[in-house]
Amino acid sequence: MLDAKIPEGSLEEKWNDYKGHCKLVNPANKRKLEIIVIGTGLAGASAASSLGELGYKVKAFCFQDSPRRAHSIAAQGGINAAKNYQNDGDSVFRLFYDTIKGGDYRSREANVHRLAEVSVNIIDQCVAQGVPFAREYGGLLSNRSFGGTQVQRTFYAAGQTGQQLLVGAYQSLERQIALGNVKMYNRHEMLDVVVIDGKARGIIARNLISGELERHSGHAVLICSGGYGNVFYLSTNAMGSNVTAAWKAHKKGAFFGNPCMTQIHPTCIPVSGEHQSKLTLMSESLRNDGRIWVPKKQNDTRKASEIPEDERDYYLERRYPAYGNLVPRDVASRAAKERCDAGYGVGTSKQAVYLDYAAAIERYGHVEAGKRGTANADAATIIELGKDVVKEKYGNLFDMYEKITGENPYQLPMRIYPAVHYTMGGLWVDYELQTTVAGLYALGEANFSDHGANRLGASALMQGLADGYFVIPYTIGNFLADEIRNAATPVDHPAFIEAEKEVAGRIQKLMSIKGKQSVESLHKRLGKIMWDKCGMARNAQGLQEAIQEIRQLKDEFWTDVKIPGEINEMNTELDKAGRVADFIELGELMCIDALNRNESCGGHFREEYQTEEGEALRDDENYMNVSAWEYNGDHKWILHKEELKYEVVKPSQRSYK
Ligand SMILES: Cc1cc2nc3c(=O)[nH]c(=O)nc-3n(C[C@H](O)[C@H](O)[C@H](O)COP(=O)(O)OP(=O)(O)OC[C@H]3O[C@@H](n4cnc5c(N)ncnc54)[C@H](O)[C@@H]3O)c2cc1C
Repeated sequence: MLDAKIPEGSLEEKWNDYKGHCKLVNPANKRKLEIIVIGTGLAGASAASSLGELGYKVKAFCFQDSPRRAHSIAAQGGINAAKNYQNDGDSVFRLFYDTIKGGDYRSREANVHRLAEVSVNIIDQCVAQGVPFAREYGGLLSNRSFGGTQVQRTFYAAGQTGQQLLVGAYQSLERQIALGNVKMYNRHEMLDVVVIDGKARGIIARNLISGELERHSGHAVLICSGGYGNVFYLSTNAMGSNVTAAWKAHKKGAFFGNPCMTQIHPTCIPVSGEHQSKLTLMSESLRNDGRIWVPKKQNDTRKASEIPEDERDYYLERRYPAYGNLVPRDVASRAAKERCDAGYGVGTSKQAVYLDYAAAIERYGHVEAGKRGTANADAATIIELGKDVVKEKYGNLFDMYEKITGENPYQLPMRIYPAVHYTMGGLWVDYELQTTVAGLYALGEANFSDHGANRLGASALMQGLADGYFVIPYTIGNFLADEIRNAATPVDHPAFIEAEKEVAGRIQKLMSIKGKQSVESLHKRLGKIMWDKCGMARNAQGLQEAIQEIRQLKDEFWTDVKIPGEINEMNTELDKAGRVADFIELGELMCIDALNRNESCGGHFREEYQTEEGEALRDDENYMNVSAWEYNGDHKWILHKEELKYEVVKPSQRSYK
C-alpha cells in the first residue's frame, strides 16, 4: 500500500498543523536553490510566481509562445470557494463534503479538506491581483451555481474566468521574471526528467524553434503540464494539451494514479462530422439557468418550437428533483446518453438534447420589468428585457454557439451532447504533492489528487491555484530544507548526457520512419478506439479489444508514421508525433486501469456494474482505493494501491434525487 503521508490529527487541523511543523528554508538558502516548473497555466504560473517571490531561483517552461496561451485560458464558467457570500448555507465543510460525494468517494479526505480551506484565500488573492470577478449591483462579488451543489459558491468573470485568472497569475509571474527570480523559457518542451540517486535533478527540453536539445538542472522539478483529455482526439481541451511531460515523468518512476478516470462533460456542441478535430464546451454555468429536455415521443422530427410544453421531458428535473439540471457532470452525461440511445435524441444526428433558455429569459424579463415599474409590460418587451440579462451573464457563450452552429440560442434551444473534457487521473502525488520520485512534484490537472472519480464544475481552477499559490510554497520547503548543502548538479553529469542521448535517439527514430500515415490520422484512430471502448460506458470485452487494437496501432505508428521536415528547425508535425506516441502508450494504460477496476464510480462507468436505475454501482469492499501504476517496461505495469480511509464522511450510494 502506498503511503500518502497524511498528517496526524483531526481533519480540520491537519493543514494548520502541517504548516506549523514543516521544515523551512531561510531566505539566504532559498537563493541557492533552483526549481524547474514545467507549465505556466494556472497551476504552473501560480507556483512559479509564488516560489520566485519566496526567493527561490525558478526556471519556468511552456510550449506555447507565451504563458498566456496555456489551456487554462479556455476556462469559462468559474471557480469555487467556500466564502458563503450568499448566506445560503455554504461552509468549508460543505465544499469538502460536496467534492468528496461528487467524486463518488474515490478521493483523499485530507487533500480535499485542505482544498476547501484554502479556497477562500484564492478569491482574496485574485481580487488583490485585480481579477475582475463579476459583481452585484452594490459592488459585492457575485456567485452562481455549478453542478453537484445546492449553494451558490462559484465566482466568475463573465464566461472568461480562466482567462482573467490567468492574466492575474501571469502578471505576478511577469513581475518575478522582471525581478530576475524567474527565468521563462517559452516554446520549450520538456522531453525527459533527469533522475539521479532517486531524486529529480533536472530535465531535457527541446527548443521548439531551433529544434536544439537543452539540459537544465534544478533541485526539484514541478510538473504542471495539464490534463490528457486529447488522448480521445476529440475533446474540449486546447489542441496542444498533451500528456508528454507527465508520461516522461511516469517512465522515470512516477506512478500514474487512476488513469482511466475521465470526465465527460454534458454540455458541449455535438460532433458534426468526420472532419472535426476539436469540440467546444458550452459552459456548465449554462445549466444554472438553462433547462435540459428531449421530446417525450421517440424519433420526434418536429422542430423544438413545435413541441408543446406537455410533450417535453425535462428528464434531469424528473429523475433528480433535488438537484434537477444541476446534477454532477457524470450523472448528467449518462442521462443524456441514455435518452439518445433510447431514441429520444434531437437534431439530424439524434445524438443531442436541448438546453433551453426560454424560461430563464422570461423569468429575468419579469424581474427587470418589475424593477422598472412596468410589471404589466407586453410579452415582447419582457422577452427583450430578459435577453439583455442573459446576454450580460452568458453573452460570449451564446455568441460562440451562434458562430459555430449558425443558430441563435436566444431564439432556439441549443443542442448539446457530452464530450471529453477533463482527466481526474494523473501523476500520483502524496499529501505534499510529491510523486513517487523524490523532488518531483505534480500540480493542477497533471496530478490525480482531489477529484476522485468525478470532478465538480469550477473545482479545477480552484485546485490548480490552491496547489500553486498555497500548497507547494509550504510542502516544497519540507524537501528543499534537506538540499541546502547540495549545489546544483552540473549538466555534464553522466545522467544528463544519457537522458539527452535517449531523447535525441527517439527523435531520430521518429524522423527516420518516413512512412505513409499522418500523425493526425493515427491520433484520430486512437481517439476512436478510446471513445468507443473506454469512453462514457465501458465493458470488459470492449476494453480487452481496445488493448489489443492500441498495441497494433502502436506498431503501425512506429513503422508507418510520416513526419515531414527536419529535426533542427521548427517542426510542429514532429512535436505532435512525439505527443501522439505518448498518448498511444497512455491509452493502453487507461484501458488496463478501466479493466482492472471492476466497479462503476463517477466518470468510470462499467456497464456490468450499475444499479437498477442505471446509476454507477461502486464496490467499496474491493475498490476503495487509488490505483497507482508503476511503469515496468513496454506494455508492462505494476499495480500499487493507496487505500482510501473515510474518517469523517460516510460513503453511501450517491443520490441527487
Ligand atoms: C473548455 C474548458 C473550460 C473549462 N472551464 C472550467 C471552469 O470554468 N472552471 C474550472 O474550474 N475548470 C474549468 N476547466 C478545467 C480547467 O481549465 C483546467 O483543468 C485547468 O485550467 C488546468 O490548468 P493547469 O495549469 O493544470 O494546466 P494548463 O492550463 O493546461 O497548462 C499546462 C501548461 O503546461 C505546459 N506544458 C505541457 N506540456 C509541456 C511540456 N512537455 N513541456 C513544457 N511545457 C509543457 C503548457 O505549455 C502549459 O503552460 C475547463 C476546461 C476546458 C477544456
